[in-house]
Amino acid sequence: MVPPTEAQSRTERRTPARKGKTRGEGQWALGYREPLNANERSKKDDNPLNVRHRIETIYQHGGFDSIDPADLRGRFRWWGLYTQRAEGIPGARTGTIEPEELDASYFMMRVRVDGGALTTEQLRVIGEISQTYARDTADITDRQNIQLHWIRVEDVPTIWEKLEAVGLYTTEACGDCPRVLLGSPVAGVAADEIIDATPAIKEITERYIGDKSLSNLPRKFKTAISGSPRWDTVPEINDISLVGVVHPEHGPGFDLWVGGGLSTNPKLAVRLGAWVPIEEAAEVWHAVTSLFRDYGYRRLRHRARLKFLVDDWGAEKTRQVIEDEYLGRKLLDGPAPETPGGHRDHLGVNPQVDGNFYVGVKSQAGRVSGSTLVEIAKAAERVGSSRVRTTVEQNLLVLDVPQRQVDGLVSDLAGLGLHSAPTPWRRNVMACTGIEFCKLAIVETKQRAIDLIGDLEQRLADVQGDVRDPVTINLNGCPNACARTQTADIGLKGQMVRDDEGNQVEGFQVHLGGGLGLDAGFGRKIRGHKVTSADLGDYVERLVRNYLGQRTDGERFAQW
Ligand code: SF4
Repeated sequence: MVPPTEAQSRTERRTPARKGKTRGEGQWALGYREPLNANERSKKDDNPLNVRHRIETIYQHGGFDSIDPADLRGRFRWWGLYTQRAEGIPGARTGTIEPEELDASYFMMRVRVDGGALTTEQLRVIGEISQTYARDTADITDRQNIQLHWIRVEDVPTIWEKLEAVGLYTTEACGDCPRVLLGSPVAGVAADEIIDATPAIKEITERYIGDKSLSNLPRKFKTAISGSPRWDTVPEINDISLVGVVHPEHGPGFDLWVGGGLSTNPKLAVRLGAWVPIEEAAEVWHAVTSLFRDYGYRRLRHRARLKFLVDDWGAEKTRQVIEDEYLGRKLLDGPAPETPGGHRDHLGVNPQVDGNFYVGVKSQAGRVSGSTLVEIAKAAERVGSSRVRTTVEQNLLVLDVPQRQVDGLVSDLAGLGLHSAPTPWRRNVMACTGIEFCKLAIVETKQRAIDLIGDLEQRLADVQGDVRDPVTINLNGCPNACARTQTADIGLKGQMVRDDEGNQVEGFQVHLGGGLGLDAGFGRKIRGHKVTSADLGDYVERLVRNYLGQRTDGERFAQW
């Protein structure tokens, strides 16, 4: 491991500063070490990971008002803590006041769940923390994390103690650093698996999460590592993805992709044409992350993701810099993995390689509760399982279920509102946090999505059997696309719109025809398609009936 000072001097030696020239993009490797914006300044003033000590020694005792604003709105994120939106402030919904003015004295806490892998003990501990400290709130995110709300800074050290006692962390769950590593929820148990990526995820998290030499990246850095042929970690839209593939001479390993991401300038990840064996996955991950730290753009926040650098450099130069400057060797060329079609979500009852079964169930737009998590843990343990998984579709899997216990578990989970055979509408609706807790939100999303599911199940009951392929509906509270606006069949971006009487009301700009896998591409923003939140059910019903009436044989929604 290279300590930060040594890493800095190495990159500075590599290319001297261009003093007197333009400010450039703030790339460290080109010598631009002076912070060019407030975020960079804050990170340079103090390594954000250091804030933990102040939470434990000062803020825990002094309470919310004792928190330094630079810690509150910046460094707290490196420990999974965001200030939560204050309720009922006039102007909040119309976006006429700054996000900072919306701070409540409570926090959202993100618990990272690398690879989506939890034991039932861990799930129960999260649930109990939620019951005690988070008003029984819990959301499963589309990055496999679990988020709690209503957290007080006074309780944070105790919560960390309880989480860490069972091997869970909030370290670098948010912030400009390596976020949670996505992994296949069926790693090690799926019959169609190319390679089990679990050891690679474990090695990276153990060696590099919380490592101060990688805790000041230009922006967030998202990782997906999966050996499933279903591409069940959305590799198309991560900063770095290792995608399972079989090399004709060397066997199972990973295809290396970089530079994917959504938000306001969406880009699909590009293949570098390199094959990575599992023993080298951590080394290659570290090389790409270090490249991002050193060459990533730091001047403008909205251009600071790896995707912009990769877009400017192209695949060939990106690979060459990784090889020459970070690995000191060439990567092996490798084949492209086959593009999957159909569902990636692992719902239903499915056989494992060991003769047991895994049961995948659908949450309603990620919304569960602490009590529900405790009950899921109990239900899993009653059938002899100790392993639960979260998915990038905000779902949950229980692994290792003996065949004779499957029906009982399915029924217990259904009693908790978690269905293994959901209708198409329940199956394919996702939502981000939205205005209930998120300070950047313009509109309500979670409850709107839950209401929409029930509404569509009634409206479209007569055509349910006609929907062969998924029609995905993703609700987002603002342009940041946390629930993947651009990759849904019907992507909804929250904004204020005018209703029939000309009033400004909550609504959505519609993006149509996005997809991943066979239909990989971003939905088109349809100019005339803005819908009020109240009219959303009508709009989706019209659209789906038109699609079903007009599609030619086998035509998926994204192709229509
Ligand atoms: Fe918040 Fe916007 Fe992300 Fe939704 S998309 S969670 S509203 S930042």
